[in-house]
Parts: sequence; C-alpha cells; structure tokens
Amino acid sequence: GHHYAVLGLGRNGVPAVLALAKGGARVQAWDDGETARTALAHQCADLPADVAARITCAPIETLTGFDGLVLSPGIPHVLPKPHPVALLAKEAGVPILSDAELLYQAVRHAGSKARFAGITGTNGKSTTTTLLAHILAEAGVPVAAGGNLGPAALALPLLPDNGVYVLEMSSYMLERLDTLRFDAACLLNLTPDHLDRHAGMEGYAHVKTRVFAGQTEADLAVIGVEDQWCRDIAAHLKAGPARCITISGAPVTPPSDVYGQANAIWHNARKVADIGPALPGSHNAENAAAAYAMASFLGITDNQIATGLHTFPGLPHRQKVVAEQDGVVFVDDSKATNADASSRALGCYDKLVWIAGGMAKEGGIASLVPYFPRMAHTFLIGRDAEELAATLEAHNAPYTVVGTLEAAVPAAYAVARQTQTPVVLLSPACASFDQFSGFEARGLRFQELARTVSAETTPQT
Ligand code: ADP
Repeated sequence: GHHYAVLGLGRNGVPAVLALAKGGARVQAWDDGETARTALAHQCADLPADVAARITCAPIETLTGFDGLVLSPGIPHVLPKPHPVALLAKEAGVPILSDAELLYQAVRHAGSKARFAGITGTNGKSTTTTLLAHILAEAGVPVAAGGNLGPAALALPLLPDNGVYVLEMSSYMLERLDTLRFDAACLLNLTPDHLDRHAGMEGYAHVKTRVFAGQTEADLAVIGVEDQWCRDIAAHLKAGPARCITISGAPVTPPSDVYGQANAIWHNARKVADIGPALPGSHNAENAAAAYAMASFLGITDNQIATGLHTFPGLPHRQKVVAEQDGVVFVDDSKATNADASSRALGCYDKLVWIAGGMAKEGGIASLVPYFPRMAHTFLIGRDAEELAATLEAHNAPYTVVGTLEAAVPAAYAVARQTQTPVVLLSPACASFDQFSGFEARGLRFQELARTVSAETTPQT
C-alpha cells in the first residue's frame, strides 16, 4: 500500500522496482536513458498483471505523498551537487533510502529474524563479503550475500530466522540507511577515496562509521586498526555499547584481537585457523581476520571457519591463479586498476614477470619502484604504456612495450620459462577502458590467452 519512487534503472534500480511492486507497493520508476526504461518494460511484461499495474514509468516531478525515494548509487543526494529529484525529496520530507534499508524493512515485515552482517572499508569489501558468506554456507547456515558487489540487496531471497544476510556496503549505501542495524558490522580500513563526494576525509570516515549505527550490546563491531583513522574510530567503539573486536592483517602494536601471521589467523595470540591458498598477502589476511571475527560471533566454530578459509575459491580477477604450466602460474589481478591495488599483489611474489598498463592514474607506477627488483621483465600494454615505460627506464628495470595483451601473454610466458620465474602476473595498475569494456573483460581475455599458451606448450624435460 506504500508509494515509492525509484530513480535510476540499473543494477540496483530494477530489482528495487520489481521487489517493491511484488511486495504490494505502488512504484513510480524513471531513468533519463531510454534503453534503461525499455529494459524495465521488458521485465514488466513477465510480471503478473496486478503487479505490473502497480508500476508507472514517468519522470519524477513531485514527491509529495510518497513514502520513500530510492536513488541509484551513482546519483548524489548531498552537497556539492545534489540531484534535483533528491531536492524534491527534501522539500517533501520524503526519506531517501538505499535498497539495503528496504531489504531490512521487508525482511522484518515478513516476520523473519534473519541476521544482518554489513561490511565496509576502502579496500577488501568484496573479498570479505564473499569469504564470510562462503564460511557461513559451508557451515550450513542459510546465507544471501550481495549489495554493492551484486546481486542488488533487493534481488536477495527471504531467509528463515537462522539465516544471515551478508551485505557489502558502499559509502553511498551507508548514507541512505534509516532503521537497518547490523548484528555484525565491519569497517576494514580507511584510505583517501571518493573524497570529492564526502567533503574530505572527515566526511568520508563519518559516512563509513554509519555501518555501526544503532548497534547495541547484543551486536558486534569489527574494526581494522592498520590506519590512524580506523584506530581513532576503534577507540570510540571500545567505549560504545557493542562488543568491539580489532583486527589486522599482520601483528601490530598494541596487539589487535584478531590478526594474520604466517598464513594463519590468530585470536588473542592463539592460532585458530590456517588461511587458504586463495587469500595471499597480508591484505587478504586482514580480510580473513574480519571474516573470522564475524563468523565466530555468528556461531561458527573455529574448525568450521578453518574449513571455509581453506575451501574459499577466491574472487575472479583478484590475484586469482587462472592457469599453470611447467612451473609457471598465471595470476589474474585485473581488478588492480591503480598502483596501490597492484602493490598488494606485487608484494606477494619474490620473482615475477609483470604485465601492466592501460589508462594510468595520477602518479602512474612511481609508487611501485620498490618492487622493480623483483621483476624478471615487464611487458606494457595499453594507451599509457610509454608513460609507464619512462618510470621503468629511469630505474633500469627491463621492459618491453608490446601494446596488447595478445602479445604480452606469450612473451611473458617465454621469459618466465627462460629465467625460471614462477609467476606471470597481470596487475595493470591502470584502468582498462582504452582496450576493454572493463576489468572483468580484461581478466577474462588474460585467462583465455594464458590457457592457450599453456596448452600449446610441450612440457620441458
Ligand atoms: P573492494 O570491494 O573494497 O573494492 P576487493 O575485495 O574487490 O575490494 O579487492 C580489490 C583490490 O583491493 C584487491 O585486488 C587488492 O589489490 C586490494 N585489497 C583487497 N583487500 C584489501 C585490504 N584488506 N586492504 C588493502 N587492499 C586490499
């Protein structure tokens, strides 16, 4: 019986329209793009007539009389540039809600006591969300994971009382919460990102801490303590009502409650579980420590968590081994679209052949100079290959500008075999849009090429 407006008919908007209409609400949906509107119309054609009748596709000119506005994550509602429809909502006193908030309301309205875990931070959100969901599922808990990484919150199924929703929460989603309270909430880390949108680091940090909003003594707050911003927040959380657990990917001083060391997770200085092969590096140890703390709180035993950590298959395009031949592994880290992300992967291997390039970010690969001695050779692709080459040249690091991934993969493999280098790593430190539709397409192409060159190789005797 409620009346909602949904602006932006993408990955989140369409599931929101459908879920709201199926739940009995009337929905006014709009997107400035005709293709998006047509896509919604196609979906509506498959709905029962009474549900379809509740959906109107029309520009949103007033919000008077509406119960809520769902804005696509990319549409801003705060200064410096709020969208005009967000201003209409403000004028009419209508709340702007994220789909995660609506999911929470719908689950509670349906009488389910399913618990909610929320994960945020600058880096590691998708890995931690997927890992926690994997651990819970392996332990037999009904689980639905999504949010920022997809599927959209409102595309998730209704879970029974013993179920757990694991939601990756972007800052955009956190800004649009109302009643959602996470039973287990986690803030992994805070480094400068999206600062333009949040009026500086303070605003960004403030939004991220909303993952802990409304928590009581029955709840769990997990916080990474490897950066000063999070350490300050941890001090506040320790004094707050929720149980607070500090985590880190490596031992820190003063010690965190849960940390990674020597490929294992330690809780209060006791080793509790090994970390599996799909989670290399101390950054992934941080993600594993967070998943451990939350899973433990949600009733999973150390043994069950160890099993989940061991069987976790990893996320595509994040340091994922995609082929192996003759002692050379091919690692796809296409998601590393900036130098900082690439540094995480480069730090994991003592000797490697590196494939990088694309559309460089500010600063290029200058911050990666300390890793150059580990590289047997570097192959550069994409628009800004020459710019990256200049940095390698200045440090006498051997490289070849090859232009394309098609040229880079066989060349890299040949060098790896000649120099007995065990790893060919695609970690571009650049955006992909000059040559690919996105980091996924770039990673998939790498995978195909890696499999082809390994299949064509006659094993060395
Ligand atoms: P997000 O969802 O926050 O973008 P992902 O789990 O998709 O994070 O990881 C993206 C990249 O960020 C990884 O390829 C890795 O380079 C880096 N990364 C992952 N986890 C962490 C972490 N805990 N701290 C710092 N960097 C990380």
